[in-house]
Amino acid sequence: MPGPSDRSAVASRMPVLEIDRAALQANWRTLAARQPGARTGAAVKADGYGLGAADVATALHQAGCRDFFVAWASEGVAVREALARAGLDSGGAATRIYVLQGLEAATVALHLAHDLVPVLSTPDDVACWRDGTSAAASRVPAALQLETGMNRLGLGEADARHAAALHAAGDLPLCLVMSHLASADEPTAQSDDQLQRFLALSALFPGVPRSLANSAGVFLGPGFGFDLTRPGIGLYGGSAGPRSTGVLQPVARLTAAILQVRTARAGEVVGYGAAVRLERNTRIATVGIGYADGLPRAASGAGIALRPLCPAADALLAGQRVPVIGRISMDMTLLDVSALPEGGVQPGDRVEFFGPGVAIDDVAAAAGTIAYEILTGMGRRVARHWT
Ligand SMILES: *Cc1c(COP(=O)(O)O)cnc(C)c1O
Repeated sequence: MPGPSDRSAVASRMPVLEIDRAALQANWRTLAARQPGARTGAAVKADGYGLGAADVATALHQAGCRDFFVAWASEGVAVREALARAGLDSGGAATRIYVLQGLEAATVALHLAHDLVPVLSTPDDVACWRDGTSAAASRVPAALQLETGMNRLGLGEADARHAAALHAAGDLPLCLVMSHLASADEPTAQSDDQLQRFLALSALFPGVPRSLANSAGVFLGPGFGFDLTRPGIGLYGGSAGPRSTGVLQPVARLTAAILQVRTARAGEVVGYGAAVRLERNTRIATVGIGYADGLPRAASGAGIALRPLCPAADALLAGQRVPVIGRISMDMTLLDVSALPEGGVQPGDRVEFFGPGVAIDDVAAAAGTIAYEILTGMGRRVARHWT
């Protein structure tokens, strides 16, 4: 009999994020096949979009990925160490880990010690890297980010010309020039404008490998692939624009368990703030997941349709979905399961909040947000289970 020290029994009703390793690797291969002339990298910033950067990077390295993008140097160190622990990497430039978010004097040593490639985006970044590496030459060259129309981070034309002069003089070794697309997932002319701008600016750096495409950029056509692509969300099963639909597989499945099923009568109210008054007798399932787990409170009452996973409900309803009712609270969410047959769901049954049965982009839309925010916002107490 399981006692209180049996952690798996204690934790069995907690929310779980199941991550399908084979689907992650398959998505990387699918994205790679779309741009056969380019190397395919992976954005693993924000802890691998919430799934766990160490496990994500290990799985993708095993699939063939050698270029990883993080936001901060500390994230890069974690990826480097995870790959080393897995016996996949022993430093140097064979596996490149790019730090997107610029450089500061305090992190130069971290870059050098772990062979991280700084993505230099400002004149200060360039100066900081040259100062920091003048004494101890880096084993890896730097990357350069060019501003092509997003107005977020990157060197404008004058600063790019200055960097190009340093590069031509042998004073700024570079392994990559890159820029970032602002609207690749939408049908606008901005991506073509950015492409033209990137072609013009990157021509200042003849012979240096180039990178422009994020996930959605990979689907914009062969002209966007250059030497290296940088997909993120598409790897993790989020939409990478209309052309990715049906091409990329779901990777993450969020499930939580039903704690109680009760029938409330017409005229009664439900949840915090009595935000819902029932018009009919309603069977309510209380599920053990809430906004502290990363389920956006903004999705309260938005009618996100969720899918009970219990075999009984599946057999009877072929995957029918049930709506959220009332306000999502910190640790609990209420579902209207009136449409399911009595006894169709029981305490202990699990419900899929997103995954193969419920598209994460649909859940995000119901909450007025995007799949990126849902994934990166998954709470710390949601266990990540790799399958
Ligand atoms: C996050 C990021 C990516 C990945 O973008 P997705 O839309 O998730 O594919 C690529 N490049 C840069 C510079 C990024 O910041």
